[in-house]
Amino acid sequence: MPEPGATLLARLTRAVGAAHVVTAPSAMAPFLTDWRGRYRGSAVAVALPQSTAEVSEVVRACAEADVGIVPQGGNTGLCGGSVPAATGAAVVVCLTRMNRVRDVDPDNMTITAEAGVPLAGVQAAAAAAGLLFPLSLASEGSCTLGGNVSTNAGGTAVLRYGNTRDLTLGLEAVLADGSVFPALRGLRKDNTGYDLKQLFIGAEGTLGIVTAAVMKLFPAPRTQVTALVAVPSAAAAIALLGRLQAALGDRLVGFELMGALALDLSRRYHPGAPPPPAAAPWYVLVQADDATADAPLPALVEAALGGAIGAGDALDATVAQSLGQARELWALRENISEAQRRAGPNVKNDISLPVSRMTHFLAACEAALIAALPGARLVVFGHLGDGNLHYNISGPEDVPAERFMAQAPVAMRIVNDLVAAHGGSFSAEHGIGQLKRDELVRYKSEVEIALMRAVKRTLDPHHRMNPGKVL
Ligand code: FAD
Ligand code: ZN
Repeated sequence: MPEPGATLLARLTRAVGAAHVVTAPSAMAPFLTDWRGRYRGSAVAVALPQSTAEVSEVVRACAEADVGIVPQGGNTGLCGGSVPAATGAAVVVCLTRMNRVRDVDPDNMTITAEAGVPLAGVQAAAAAAGLLFPLSLASEGSCTLGGNVSTNAGGTAVLRYGNTRDLTLGLEAVLADGSVFPALRGLRKDNTGYDLKQLFIGAEGTLGIVTAAVMKLFPAPRTQVTALVAVPSAAAAIALLGRLQAALGDRLVGFELMGALALDLSRRYHPGAPPPPAAAPWYVLVQADDATADAPLPALVEAALGGAIGAGDALDATVAQSLGQARELWALRENISEAQRRAGPNVKNDISLPVSRMTHFLAACEAALIAALPGARLVVFGHLGDGNLHYNISGPEDVPAERFMAQAPVAMRIVNDLVAAHGGSFSAEHGIGQLKRDELVRYKSEVEIALMRAVKRTLDPHHRMNPGKVL
C-alpha cells in the first residue's frame, strides 16, 4: 500500500502536471513565508492549477486525503492568511497560473478576470479599453485579483469608488467539496434571494477558492490633480476633507494622511523624494479626478486649498505640475510600508473609525501610549477619507526594535480598546488571517461570532479551507 501522502501527490500531479506540484523545500520556501517575514509555515506541497477544473480536482484530492488547503495569490497579505501553519499538514494552492483576462465588456463596463491576474494586469487591461479599474494598492504589481477579492482590499481610491466588495459584481469559486459556485454574472441588479457571492469576499480563503470575478469598470480620468498639503493638526486635516468634498463632490478620489514621522521615514529610505511644502505635524495627499478633458478641476482644487490656508486649516501646499511630479508625490505615500519594513519590526494596527471620532481618538490614544510606553514613536498614515489609518508604533530610537516588540501586546491592547470605545474596527482592510484571531473573538459580539461559525460549518464542515485562519 502506498502511504497516503504519496497517493495525494500522485493525484495532485495528475490534476495539474508534475511541473506544477512543488515539493522541494527550497522551491516551496517563498510560498511558506509572508511578505513581512513574520510567519513561516510548512506544507505537503504547493500546487499551481491553471484552470477552474484543475482547482476543483486539487480540492477533491485534498478532501479525499483529508488534508487542509491554503489558497494563495501574490502572498502580499499582511495578516499571515496565505501562509500555512508550521505543522506541514496542508497543501498550498497558488492561483498565479490562473492569469487570463477572460473578457473586457466596454458596453457593460465590466472586466472578467481569473484569480491569479495581478491587480496591475487588471488595471492595464481596463486601460487598454480606455476604461478604469480603480482598485489601487502599493502592492498592485504582485497582489492578485483573487487575493484582493478574498481580503476585500481597500487602498487609495475607496473614497470615490469603494473597496473590492463594492467593485465585485460576480464571482466563481471552488467549494470545499470541489464543486463550483457559478455566479460569474456581470449584473448591477440581481435580487434573486441571498447574495451568496458576498460570503467569499473578505473570507480570506476560509470558505472556498475564488477562481474568477467580474469587476466594475469606470470612465478613465482625463483631468487629474495631485497635491501634497501640510496641515497644522489632524482636526485641520478633517476640516480640509470637508472643504474638498464640498468643492469637488465625488471627484475627490483619494485623501491620504501622513504623520511627519511616516513621511520622514519614507524620504529617508527613498533618497531623491521631494521635500514637503512646509514643516508640519501632518500632511495630506489629495487626489482629484474628472472624466472630462476640459474640467475646471485644477482651479477648484486650488481655490479650496487657498480657502483652507486662509482659514488656518492648511499651512502650504504643493500642487503637481506634471504627471511625473504627481507620481513623485504618490511615491512618498506608497513607500511608507516598504520603509517601515526596512526600518525593522514595529507594532502594526489597521484601524477604522467614524471620521467624526478620529480627532478625539488620536489625542486619547497618543496620550495613553506615551504614558504606558515612554519614548514610543507613532508612525501614522493611511486613508483618512475612509476613516482608515495604519496606526503603527515603533520603539524609542535607542531601544532595539526586537526588544520593543515584547511590548506589542500592551500597545495593541491600548489601541484596539480605544478603537472599540470610539465605535471603530481593529481591522479595516487587512483582514484577520492568523494575526488577529484573538482580537476577533475579543471585539466581535457573540451573536456575530456564532453566525460566522455557522456559515463556516455550512460551507466547510471539515475545516479544510485555510485551517487556523480567521475563526
Ligand atoms: P495573498 O496574500 O496571497 O492572500 C491573502 C488572503 O487571501 C489569504 O488568506 C489567502 O488564503 C486568501 N486568498 C488569496 N487568493 C485567494 C483565492 N483565489 N481564493 C481564496 N482565497 C484566496 N491591502 C489593502 O487592502 N489596502 C492597501 O492599501 C494595501 N497596501 C499594501 C501595501 C503593501 C506594500 C503590501 C505588501 C500589502 C498591502 N496590502 C494592502 C495588503 C495586500 O496587498 C492585500 O491584502 C491584497 O489584496 C492581497 O492579495 P494577494 O494576492 O497577495 O493575496
Ligand atoms: Zn492601506
